[in-house]
Amino acid sequence: MLRASVLLLLCGRAVADVEEITTEPAFKKALADNAAVVVDFFSQTCGPCIMIAPKFKELAKEYEGKVKFVKVDVQRSYVGVQVRSMPTFHFYVQGKLEHQFSGADENGMRQYTAQIARKAEAMDIEVSLSALEAFYQKHDPSKLEGVDEIYEKYPAYKLVQILKKKYGEAPEYTKKNKAPPKAEGGGKGGKEEGGKAVDIKKMDLEDLKAEVYRREVSAEEKETELMLKKNQRRRDKLIEGCQADGDMGTCKAVKLAVVGGGPAGVTAAIYAARAGLKPMVVAPAMGGQLMSKGVNVENYPGIVEASGGDIIKLMKKQALRFSATFEEEAALTVDLSKRPFVIQTNTSTIMAHSIVVATGADSRWLNVPGEEDLKGGGVSSCATCDGFLYSGKPVVVVGGGDTAMEDALVLARTSSSVVLVHRRDTFRASKVLQQAVLAHAKITVMWNTTVKEFKGGEGGMLSTVVVQDVHDEANVTELAAEAAFVAIGHIPNTHLFKGQLEMTPSDYLVTREGSTRCSVDGVFAAGDVADWVYRQAVTSAGSGSASALDAERWLSEQMMSSAADEPEDEDGKEECHPEDYESWTMKQIRKELKDRGVDAAQECRGCMEKSQFIEVLCRHM
Ligand SMILES: Cc1cc2nc3c(=O)[nH]c(=O)nc-3n(C[C@H](O)[C@H](O)[C@H](O)COP(=O)(O)OP(=O)(O)OC[C@H]3O[C@@H](n4cnc5c(N)ncnc54)[C@H](O)[C@@H]3O)c2cc1C
Repeated sequence: MLRASVLLLLCGRAVADVEEITTEPAFKKALADNAAVVVDFFSQTCGPCIMIAPKFKELAKEYEGKVKFVKVDVQRSYVGVQVRSMPTFHFYVQGKLEHQFSGADENGMRQYTAQIARKAEAMDIEVSLSALEAFYQKHDPSKLEGVDEIYEKYPAYKLVQILKKKYGEAPEYTKKNKAPPKAEGGGKGGKEEGGKAVDIKKMDLEDLKAEVYRREVSAEEKETELMLKKNQRRRDKLIEGCQADGDMGTCKAVKLAVVGGGPAGVTAAIYAARAGLKPMVVAPAMGGQLMSKGVNVENYPGIVEASGGDIIKLMKKQALRFSATFEEEAALTVDLSKRPFVIQTNTSTIMAHSIVVATGADSRWLNVPGEEDLKGGGVSSCATCDGFLYSGKPVVVVGGGDTAMEDALVLARTSSSVVLVHRRDTFRASKVLQQAVLAHAKITVMWNTTVKEFKGGEGGMLSTVVVQDVHDEANVTELAAEAAFVAIGHIPNTHLFKGQLEMTPSDYLVTREGSTRCSVDGVFAAGDVADWVYRQAVTSAGSGSASALDAERWLSEQMMSSAADEPEDEDGKEECHPEDYESWTMKQIRKELKDRGVDAAQECRGCMEKSQFIEVLCRHM
């Protein structure tokens, strides 16, 4: 998916019927000049944006003359609207935001466009002054004197609504815009959906890009499906004979188990898999903190911009490609007193000679109204990660420790102002940081103050932080802010290892200097679970790779990196399962044969059925 995005990043978007808007005044003008407006907030690096763009263009053609279609490249232009992710669509009627959603959802786009078109049409009426006079003459002659003011005060549709409600009848009105819409749901998009072959010769550049993207996604989906099937088989084989309450004699230990599936754990798995350690990753399907990040990640090297979920997906795919095995369950217990170590999940028991612990650390939150809803919409716990998105805007930081001080100082470089909200009258932070904060012209401290609520404004983004004096409940202040950073600490996910591994007073795992080794031999720590300083995806991935290298060295020292003690297929290779390829097209099978240097014409002479080709393919797996 990212490959397609990067490729397409190089090409511009040329759309005939959709106007690209780059400034706030132009955006406001578009809203003022048009009864109904649909806006596509996109970015050049977002795959789903590219995929949906031709559909947006088709819709613009269908609703020509009825609805105005505009697009805003959020990486290049700011039009006064913050969006959480791309693509995001906004639907306006008479300048008012009626609906919005994020994602490449063509049905949603059609449905809301139809709704605003209908609404705008209903509102797009004229009432003449004489019609209004005639109306009042009939229903309420006392109003005739001020009829001019009433006429000027309300738009025609509002007047009709008010009068209908009050008098049960409306003045006579006429439609302003009589241009009939082109058929809804018709057009090229409908035809394609109907299953007809696409004629790429007739496509323009944008349609071609979307078609390429669609095909790449479809091929990737097939590949992923196959990898997951293989993963399931490896997983079943690895846990075969391992039941916690049964005879563990038949259970074979894996060389390395990784507990945690965020950037640290998955990177450890990639390195270990490439070193032939056949690691088993034990972690729920949700891949850690990055998955729940509402806005895109922009600081992972090599990836200009992508959602946290996409980055984790890509990492997992890479690990699966090297035959790392995923057990998508949380570890309920880890017993480090036995060798091999024993990991227990809800559905499985895993024995492992070595373990990388990469369970991360969760941010502490305030648990006040609005916080959950606005996460990713202005409320964040990572200023280093999300601060830049609020350059030139007023922001709030909550906390009184080192992290809060650092966040306030980092934000003061880019934001217009920083209000630091702290519940006590002194900071816990180091003196140097305190002094830097207190001396900074852009930072204001609100002592003895707590956050009562986060309030969202237009577009569901944070607009106000409501704070309260701890000594005087009635003293409530509303701070205008576009972002608020909750910096009140983290909780490392180390409860499984309490009493088993050495930890800091705040429960982070302690590693030996210059390595990822923990206090028990054969156990290594990677990522946020042992890092209270940097806490970034890239630093976590870095320590993930270090932990796999350390584990490999340790296993070698213990003479345990040979394949002897390993559950796997008899010949050490994965078997080929014909059913895995049944959903492939003949074209894909032929290509796979070709890529593997197989002369299909020679080896499959007289082959008629797909199954026969699959058989040949399996012989070469
Ligand atoms: C709001 C926010 C925005 C951020 N934005 C960025 C950014 O833009 N750029 C950046 O570089 N960093 C960002 N970060 C920081 C980054 O997400 C973390 O530093 C990084 O994810 C840490 O990786 P990790 O693998 O150590 O832990 P995590 O990502 O926390 O992963 C921990 C893993 O352990 C698993 N786990 C936990 N308990 C168990 C258990 N009992 N059994 C099995 N598995 C378990 C979890 O399910 C998860 O898979 C952000 C963080 C937050 C909170």
